[in-house]
Amino acid sequence: MSDGFLQIASTLTSIARGFHSRGWLVGTSGNLSAVVDREPLRLAVTPSGVDKGEFSPAQVLLTDEQSRVVSDHLAKPSDESPLHVRIVKEHGAGAVIHTHSIWNTILSDRHAGDGGLGIEGYEMLKGLQGVKTHQHREWLPIIENSQDMLALAESISDTLGKNKDAHGILLRGHGLYSWGRDLLQAKRHVEILEFLLEVLGRSILINGN
Ligand SMILES: [Zn+2]
Repeated sequence: MSDGFLQIASTLTSIARGFHSRGWLVGTSGNLSAVVDREPLRLAVTPSGVDKGEFSPAQVLLTDEQSRVVSDHLAKPSDESPLHVRIVKEHGAGAVIHTHSIWNTILSDRHAGDGGLGIEGYEMLKGLQGVKTHQHREWLPIIENSQDMLALAESISDTLGKNKDAHGILLRGHGLYSWGRDLLQAKRHVEILEFLLEVLGRSILINGN
């Protein structure tokens, strides 16, 4: 394995363990990936069905554009790997992180009828790449969930094509996808979006709207 892959695997593991401890990747849910090479495309990806709280760098898989494992592992990549590939290829992301938090699950269902969720007026929005003011309105598109990964990949591709400035996308009753130029930026975006979703959710509880 290259030094680049080993470094990425180490960073990916520490983010996965940290997010697990925050309750965003419980019960083997969620997945993470990062670009190792663009030509040909090689992604470091979490395997399917592993406990992110016990995750280690040696478990990180190297996969190709068709989400086939090209490293010396017997494990399967996450079922949602094709979605990561689409976001990397079509949205220029260098890393993609998918979380299953309580608040992203609740709010992605609550606002699905609106096609998305608008967030504005919060200082924390400035943690999103390119956002300079709390007055920014961030639109988090919401798409219907599906167990058909190819259909879901098409839906994500179509939605991102219409929302080129989005920093994340919600799958209804399922979770959040966010991304960045690298793992650290993707981590920051997930932290910001999860914070804002929790603010919205708790505000609804307090204010009742
Ligand atoms: Zn998921």
